[in-house]
Amino acid sequence: MSDQENQTTWHYPEVGGDLVRVVVSEQEIRDKLADLAAQIDRDYAGKEILLVGVLKGAAMVMSDLMRHLRSDVSMDWMAVSSYGAGTQSSGVVRILKDLDADISGRHVLVVEDIIDSGLTLSWLMETLERRQPASLEIATLLRKPDAVKVDIDVRYLGFDIPNEFVVGYGLDYAERYRQLPFVAVLAPHVYGG
Ligand code: 5GP
Repeated sequence: MSDQENQTTWHYPEVGGDLVRVVVSEQEIRDKLADLAAQIDRDYAGKEILLVGVLKGAAMVMSDLMRHLRSDVSMDWMAVSSYGAGTQSSGVVRILKDLDADISGRHVLVVEDIIDSGLTLSWLMETLERRQPASLEIATLLRKPDAVKVDIDVRYLGFDIPNEFVVGYGLDYAERYRQLPFVAVLAPHVYGG
């Protein structure tokens, strides 16, 4: 990202010192979501799509992706808790809030912020598959290829990023930084690293 672009998007002096570098800029996210939405519109032409987001990280990507879509869409949310040691997820997941919608016979597109180990999403896909949707696909803004532990078929991918802890664009550290319009690496001093 150029210095000029950095200056126009970096309006967060209160957290600027906590961030090492921007990994995906606001402009890159906007362009990519427009591309993905065009692809989704083509693939689902004539069909109604149920977008399923996982709270809370996917909130920004969901709302920004949605406003580009021309297809007939509705939206639903799940909240899950993933048990694991420290920052590692274990794949043992509990549903805190289930979907409102019955997804059987519907075209479900899961909208994710990030795939790290993939364990949470893998569990979610199995859970949703058992409810017999007409189709079930994944759109994720980010993926860490070096961290992925399970094979997950991602139909719509934004960006592959390095295996570092990132915040912004919905992603938090201790509930902070979600509002950043870009994705950035968090400085280790913030989490005591
Ligand atoms: P997984 O089961 O794929 O290992 O974990 C997925 C979840 O862990 C994501 O939905 C996200 O909530 C969290 N996560 C994974 N990597 C990061 C990261 O770099 N930054 C933040 N803020 N959360 C992450």
